[in-house]
This record gives sequence, C-alpha cells and structure tokens, in this order.
Amino acid sequence: MTFEEKLLFEQSAVGRTGADLEEGTAEKLCTGQTPRQSIGLPEVSEPQVVRHFTRLSQQNYAIDTNFFPLGSCTMKHNPRINEKIARLDGFADIHPLQPDETVQGALALMYELEQWLCKLTGLAKTTLNPSAGAHGELTGAMIIRKAHEQRGNPRKIILVPDSAHGTNPATAAMCGYTCKTIPSNKDGLVDMAAFEEALNEDVAAFMLTNPNTCGLFEPNVKAIADKLHSIGAYFYCDGANFNAICGKVKPADLGVDVMQFNLHKTFSTPHGGGGPGSGPVAVCEALAPYLPTPHIQKNKNGTFKLQHNSANSIGRIRSFQGQFGMFVRALSYMKSHGVDGLTKASENAVLNANYVLAHLKNHFNTPFNKDDKSFCMHECLLSEKWQKQHGITTHEIAKALLDHKIHPMTVYFPLVVGGAMLIEPTESEPKEVLDQFIAVMKKIADEAKQPGAKEIFGKLPKQTFHKKLDEVKAARQPKTTFEGP
Ligand SMILES: *Cc1c(COP(=O)(O)O)cnc(C)c1O
Repeated sequence: MTFEEKLLFEQSAVGRTGADLEEGTAEKLCTGQTPRQSIGLPEVSEPQVVRHFTRLSQQNYAIDTNFFPLGSCTMKHNPRINEKIARLDGFADIHPLQPDETVQGALALMYELEQWLCKLTGLAKTTLNPSAGAHGELTGAMIIRKAHEQRGNPRKIILVPDSAHGTNPATAAMCGYTCKTIPSNKDGLVDMAAFEEALNEDVAAFMLTNPNTCGLFEPNVKAIADKLHSIGAYFYCDGANFNAICGKVKPADLGVDVMQFNLHKTFSTPHGGGGPGSGPVAVCEALAPYLPTPHIQKNKNGTFKLQHNSANSIGRIRSFQGQFGMFVRALSYMKSHGVDGLTKASENAVLNANYVLAHLKNHFNTPFNKDDKSFCMHECLLSEKWQKQHGITTHEIAKALLDHKIHPMTVYFPLVVGGAMLIEPTESEPKEVLDQFIAVMKKIADEAKQPGAKEIFGKLPKQTFHKKLDEVKAARQPKTTFEGP
C-alpha cells in the first residue's frame, strides 16, 4: 500500500449519503424525538465507506499476512477452528447477566478450562477473571498481600529481576509494595548472591519470568523457591512465556505458588495493539481461599453455578467473570492439540528459536549464547554490539527490516542488554519463513559493514509509504484529533 488513505472527513461532500431513505423517513423510524442538528459526521456514500475500511484493513501488518517475530509477545498462528467455535450462537449470543441455569454450557466450558490450567501447572485452583497478563499479575499480587495480611503482616517488599517485563514492578507498586531490583549476572540469570542478600522478613514475594525475557531458563529456580519459602515469602511466576515449557514442566514442581497465564499468547487468540487478552491466575492450595469472585462451583448434581461470596476472597477485580470469548478459543486450542500437541508446540517453539540463533550468532552479538553448547528457549536475544562499531544501531536494523517487508523483532527490551533484539519466531512458522528471515538479517549485517553504511542506514526505511519518522516528536507532540481539511 503505497498511498495515503484519506480520513473519511477529508472525503466528505455536503449532502452525500449512504442511505437512500426518502426525506423524513429516518425521523419517523426514530423514537419520536427531534433529531439533533448536524453532529459533524462525514457525508460519504456506501462504496466510499466500504473501500475506506477495506483499504485500511489491507494496510494492517498482521500475523495473517506475514512473519511477526516480536519477542515475548508470542504472535503465532491462531487456528481458525478456535474462531469457528467461538462464533457458535450458544457461545457468542449469551449475556453475562443471564441466570446460571440458562448458561450451563458456558459455565461447564469455564470449569473445564480451569481444570486444564490446573493440570498443566500442577497448581490447585484457578481464576479466569483477569482481563490480561498485567491484570493477572495484579490479581496475583493482591492475593499474596491478602495472605500475608491474614497472617498479621502484609510485608513491604516485592523482589523483581532487572530483566523483568515493565508490568512486574508496576504491579508491585500498585499493590503498595516497594519494588527491589535483583540484578542479572553475566549469563543473563538471577544473581543468586544478590538475591540471597535481599531476602528478609519484609519480602512478600519474588516475581520471576521463567523462561526469562532473555529467552533463558532459570536453572536455580528450585533453590529460589526454597529460599523464599524458608522466610515465609511467596514465589510468583510471570507465566507470559509459558508457551516455551507448556507440557514439559509443571510450575508447581518448581515451587511456584502463583502464576498468571496469558491465554492470548500461549493458547492463541488474535491479539496486538493492546487486546483482546485474558490473564487467568493459578495458585497453590494455601492461596486458593483468596482468589477473586465470582468463581465457578460444580454442584453435587453436576450442574454449575457462579459463586459470588467467599469469606477470604480479595473480591471482584472486574465486571462479570472475564473475557469469555478468549476462554472458548483457549479451550478449543487445548482440546484440538491435546497435552501431547501442546508439548510438541513448546518443543517446536524452542527448536525454531534455536534455529534462528544458530544461523545468526556469527553475524550478530549474542550476549548470553556464546558457545555452541549454549541454547535459548522460545526466543533468542541478539544485540547491536557488532553493528554499532560501524555506527549502526538496533533502531536502524529494525528500519532496514521494514524495507524487506518484515515486522521488526522486539527492540531495546530486555533493558539488561544494550540495543537488544529479542526474536520469537514461534512454533507456527515453517522452515522456509525462518530461512528467509535469516537471509535478510545476514544481508543487513553484511551491508552494515560496508563503507558509507552509516549514512545509508540513517535514511531507512525507503520502501514504506511514510519514510523515516520523527519518533521523538510523535511521542511528545502526538496529533490525535482531526482539525479540519
Ligand atoms: C506480555 C507480557 C506481560 C503482560 O501481558 P499483557 O497481556 O500484555 O497485559 C507480562 N509479562 C511478560 C513477560 C509479557 O511478555
């Protein structure tokens, strides 16, 4: 798409309309109230509207059109069977205020999804209520706070590694905790000496992502759990990267007490641009009484009901019971894969990331995967170090990818690596797509070494409709309203 799509306001012509009702009919069809004078909507014909939105949809870069290697975000194929099931009338046309007796199938589905999440984690009980990963974190931290309060002292500190997703420290702060950062060691893992030094009776919990955001499995995870438990603190696992280990290991076996899922990442739902998501939370037996309401109760006669009262619950964390459409997609994904299929998906996600890593490690600096025996999990981490010697940064490498019609990887995250490039190919990409991506990345690395490269890269992208943007201005002075043609 090499033209600018005009706003509908700019296409508007006085008196043009999409509806061909006779004069006065629209008013009669209304409620009898006097229609408002013009509210300034664009005046356009039906074909103009159809073309406008169709063209906008074609300008989207999406997982359905191309490779989307965003690290940590898990942009993988969303099987169409999930969509088909989620659109069945009995799922799509129900309302959260319907009496429980009229939505037994929906409640049964939610109950079954909870059972799957418990089985896959080894944890005792699950809530489906939270609306996204970050909301799940908040719910988990509130549960931890309530549990400590019940024992007489909410405690003061939550420990977070420096490689953590930004939502982790934000969650700790929102729950009234002071966040203490635990540094990573030279291998990109928790610095155990610093972790042990930070442990004391004020520590409420440690929030760890495993595999972490450097794409590495934390080998000391068991020792971390034991040390936390020995001082009465809880072990929170940010489960956004569960797609790397699903079916391979149960977080409960690693000593995890609380974990949120990102259903939209691990169990597939079209997402991006902030939604839609779903962030269920699984907890160990000791924390189960604090789960939010409502929760699903299976009655003795096999029927289900939403339980709204629970003595020690943290209470409601949102309206109704959660993002039902995502529950349908997730359970459809799980049932169509089976546990074996989910395990295979994790294995292939890890295999694909290692394939990319192996082919690019001689062309880009790999801060934590130096030798041939060093593997990553479901995402691989590169840095700009070698290209920077020629004056070329991660920012410019990302822009060069745009000219090859590839969506850039996650850039400048995690913060522990300067000029980070975090690549998550996911299991749903075939070898040919990975080979093409690898070839483009090698070409970029080669071009970055040529004389005059700094100047050439500084002007990219050239193939996109909008060329190099002033990103600082876009962030500081965004223009978000139409001010007239
Ligand atoms: C995506 C992600 C989150 C936040 O999840 P949302 O659903 O976007 O709120 C938290 N932690 C990690 C590691 C993530 O990748």
